Amino acid sequence: MSVLTFGSGIGVTMGAHRLYSHKSFKAKWPLKVALILLQTVAGQNCMYIWVRDHRQHHKYSDTDADPHNANRGFFFSHIGWLMSKKHPAVISKGKTIDMSDLEADPLVLFQQTFYNPLYIIFALALPIAIPVYFWGETYWNSLFISYFGRYMLLLNITWLVNSAAHLYGTRPFDKNLKPVESSLVAFLSIGEGWHNYHHAFPWDYRAAELGSKYSVTTFLINCLAAVGLAYDLKTTPYNMIQYKALRVGDGTHHIFGKIKRKNDVPTKESSEDNAKDDESNKNQSQRLVEANKG
Ligand SMILES: [Zn+2]
Ligand SMILES: [Zn+2]
Repeated sequence: MSVLTFGSGIGVTMGAHRLYSHKSFKAKWPLKVALILLQTVAGQNCMYIWVRDHRQHHKYSDTDADPHNANRGFFFSHIGWLMSKKHPAVISKGKTIDMSDLEADPLVLFQQTFYNPLYIIFALALPIAIPVYFWGETYWNSLFISYFGRYMLLLNITWLVNSAAHLYGTRPFDKNLKPVESSLVAFLSIGEGWHNYHHAFPWDYRAAELGSKYSVTTFLINCLAAVGLAYDLKTTPYNMIQYKALRVGDGTHHIFGKIKRKNDVPTKESSEDNAKDDESNKNQSQRLVEANKG
């Protein structure tokens, strides 16, 4: 069960999320096949629909057009959105999401066309049959643990990124965004809980700044890049992170937060006079970064 949960989790975090939704790295076709297969095992709808919903979530984050708008509360953003009728704004804005890259991907289209038979084979039949055949598990045990148990566990972990990681935590990179940094969600979701960073810099394949060290998904992408299966890994320049944390962070950043709290850094709207202060903040933060490295 844990192998299946982990494997299908990778299909979601690395495949559906970082590769297909955000194009944060490129993958050779064997890796794409493996990720699409694992994403099928996860049973969270076909890749095309998953990616469309997720791109819409970023584009209209926490508004009526966001499929799991966290302003409607924990329950709605966790599971309620799948149990209720879509808001009219979700339907109308959903049609505006650019999906041309996935529409040109034969692997994605194959999975979409044959999703039901693929799901029955890879998410239902094989996970139930393998424990029965190889280590004599009963069919009932296998059905409840390898299918229902595993499915519910992974779904709830995935949903925590939409609910808890939009509600309970800090906003060191952009306090104007609802998503937060949540180490608990990051731990459970193998690296997807540093969500304030992710919404601030969605193209970054690490989906985190400091937390990327502890992200299993990021570690695996690095390993796959080392053997050439993943390439063109996109990151965010350090000075861009620093600049954003200083200007619009909530002051909880482990390095820049101290400076921000102390100096009350100027915001976008502030006058030219504040530019000088801004420059000194940058220098000061640079010194701190260097001290931190040392
Ligand atoms: Zn995302
Ligand atoms: Zn989000």
